[in-house]
Amino acid sequence: MMLADNLKQVQQSIQKACDQVGRSCSEVTLVAVTKTEDVPTTQAMIALGQLHLAENRADKFLAKKQAITHPEVVWHYIGNLQRRKVKDVINEVDYFHALDSLKLADEIQKRAQKVVKCFVEVNVSGEESKHGLTLEETKDFILSLHAHDKIQVVGLMTMAPFDSTATEQHDIFKKLKQKQCEIEKLTLSYAPCHDLSMGMSNDFPIAVMEGATFVRVGTALFK
Ligand SMILES: *Cc1c(COP(=O)(O)O)cnc(C)c1O
Repeated sequence: MMLADNLKQVQQSIQKACDQVGRSCSEVTLVAVTKTEDVPTTQAMIALGQLHLAENRADKFLAKKQAITHPEVVWHYIGNLQRRKVKDVINEVDYFHALDSLKLADEIQKRAQKVVKCFVEVNVSGEESKHGLTLEETKDFILSLHAHDKIQVVGLMTMAPFDSTATEQHDIFKKLKQKQCEIEKLTLSYAPCHDLSMGMSNDFPIAVMEGATFVRVGTALFK
């Protein structure tokens, strides 16, 4: 693994995608998905200055967080979170990317000791195997969170199907951006909804072109 080269390449691809559409690269945060990596490899990535990290399994995340004491790491939890794991995980994360039900929101409300920055997960493509709300459900779901004062909806998150074409990816990310703008315009105090978590190794340049503010990249960094 050539972590430094991989990181540089991913950063350059983000820069190039920003240039293509006239965005400032400073609007895009690269989140390194370390879910398949051990602690030393994760530490090596941190040593390169990559401080936003993401995990998707409660037990692995908690063990890794305990082993990694770097004070500036920002932890993203990107996986489906079982309700019984919320109490262990939710106070340890900086961003939670997979809010997709009222029951989960209720559990977060009950267990969180501080306001949690959450992305509402949207299944734009309607793929059956994926978690997330439909685009149509998203606004009402967010409106229904007004009394959950431990939840701040910072944005929307989606995943494009693994086998989708570039055209389909553009379409999916564009639709999420439209929904994000629609919610942002409501100017809800608890849902600024300024951010878009979209783009993985095989589609992050397209996601950046379509307005992603957080890209979640694993394989391309740790190949
Ligand atoms: C694993 C994972 C990623 C990273 O995927 P890669 O294809 O390895 O870049 C991004 N988002 C979520 C939700 C994931 O589970």
